[in-house]
Amino acid sequence: MENPNNTSNFIRNIIVDDLKEGRVDSIVTRFPPEPNGYLHIGHAKSICLNFELAREFKGRVHLRFDDTNPLKEDTEYVESIKEDVQWLGFEWDGLYFASDYFEEMYKRAILLIEKGKAYVDDLSADEIRQMRGTLTEPGQNSPYRDRGVEENLDLFERMRGGEFQNGEKVLRAKIDMSSPNINLRDPVIYRIAHATHHNTGDKWCIYPMYAFAHPIEDAIEGVTHSICTLEFEDQRPLYDWVIEQCEMDSTPHQYEFARLNLTNTVMSKRKLKLLVDEGTVDGWDDPRMPTISGLRRRGYTPESIRTFCREIGVTKGSGVIDSKYLDHFLREDLKLKAPRTMGILKPLKVVITNYPEGQVEWLDAEINPENLEMGVRQIPFSREIYIEQDDFMENPPNKYFRLFPGNEVRLKHAYFIKCHDFVKDENGNVVEIHCTYDPETKSGSGFTGRKVKGTIHWVEASHAVPAEFRLYEPLILDEENDEDESSSFLDRINANSLVKEHGFVEPNMKEVKGQDKFQFFRHGYFNVDPKDLSDDHIVFNLIVSLKSSFELPKK
Ligand code: ATP
Ligand code: MG
Repeated sequence: MENPNNTSNFIRNIIVDDLKEGRVDSIVTRFPPEPNGYLHIGHAKSICLNFELAREFKGRVHLRFDDTNPLKEDTEYVESIKEDVQWLGFEWDGLYFASDYFEEMYKRAILLIEKGKAYVDDLSADEIRQMRGTLTEPGQNSPYRDRGVEENLDLFERMRGGEFQNGEKVLRAKIDMSSPNINLRDPVIYRIAHATHHNTGDKWCIYPMYAFAHPIEDAIEGVTHSICTLEFEDQRPLYDWVIEQCEMDSTPHQYEFARLNLTNTVMSKRKLKLLVDEGTVDGWDDPRMPTISGLRRRGYTPESIRTFCREIGVTKGSGVIDSKYLDHFLREDLKLKAPRTMGILKPLKVVITNYPEGQVEWLDAEINPENLEMGVRQIPFSREIYIEQDDFMENPPNKYFRLFPGNEVRLKHAYFIKCHDFVKDENGNVVEIHCTYDPETKSGSGFTGRKVKGTIHWVEASHAVPAEFRLYEPLILDEENDEDESSSFLDRINANSLVKEHGFVEPNMKEVKGQDKFQFFRHGYFNVDPKDLSDDHIVFNLIVSLKSSFELPKK
């Protein structure tokens, strides 16, 4: 089989075997999000796995909305999920909604009742929980467990008819209250919820539970390999029970892998929604969010996310992946693609006193020295330019090679300049530097007369285009991933996760479009914010800085 990326994993091996042994003729996978929030990078791992396997083995892959809980679901989420999957570079072979199968699921529930395999229970949710037993103690049978088939059929129909309040009754599978696997202790398979569903409206007031609905959805669609995360491992016997007892025509199999956890972030829709609802971030697509839409707006590329998901592998062992690993693949992806440019984040004016007033010359600068095919851009140079405030010090420490009184530096793509004076405001801040330039030292002229140790970047003042730079740090402090269910991560929000600077960029940046990506010399990779870009305001989001102390894990 073709395996362009030369990466394998245990699920792929199972598929190779199943095809070789003729257990399946072709494979069908699915990505089954619940539309109760926006997708995050953890979902991307599952998307890449399912879509790439189907593509590699020329099978089918379904995008299926697991929309069985009307209380949390919304069409806004459905639309965002479709957009995110497509943006990642994938097309589904079929688009499905679990809610389209409600009638079929209802029929299968009736079948269970008729077979004596399901019953209507009047116990409350609390009572059911109390009687479920523990890992070491068996559960107790509900007093309603031995209701007759006719009574159960009648009650279930009346549940559907809306006769009862939320929580008054449930339908439970009749399996084994003393099973060592708690999931098999008569799990609830239908509950009452008087709520409007985003797809079926008010047609239903009973809804199937995940554990019952999911296997049926897979079987209806002819899914062969139903891939999910490890927390569903203990539910696999129930999955198989439902397929068998509901007499489904096809037999999907469930396989589990470890979910992705990343450092310095939270990865659960519930927690991400809390950040949005509390106003901690500016929506689901805030560039600090680990959502696909946040990563997109920040500037991560689909290629870098796909490579990341492939390289971290698919295993049964859980762990926390360093988010710098993703940054590495972003740099790799943009290295040859992103135009280089110069931008000043914190401007300080420099006057070149021996440069003729009113004169402007246009200098050549490579668009990408690592990819010369991208050509050359022209940048203006004149008597007044901006440099970074950090690139000048009145009293520099040792080994400071940038501008200070008496020192000479190279201006990238231009000339050597030497500082001979500076101006302070009434608060003692340096507000202007005076330099002279040496016309002999023009970049590209082959000048070898003398060397300087520092090269700094700059932008010519009269043509400079104002721009806002948004600099990001991790949203959540602490390397530890927050696995517990408390909301304590809200106490670990990084107050410096967003810093805004107002500076200048080269004149050719006037025409940028949302999502254009650049490498700003000495600063890093930036993305044009598509949301806050307007005719007179350019916003650049820092994607990643240029270098990282991070070392790739050994493979
Ligand atoms: P969350 O806890 O973030 O709400 P979820 O599992 O409830 O996630 P679903 O919409 O049910 O979200 O997930 C759709 C698919 O994505 C499932 O198959 C699920 O196993 C997978 N998935 C969710 N989170 C991760 C993750 N962190 N790593 C890998 N796969 C994930
Ligand atoms: Mg969920």
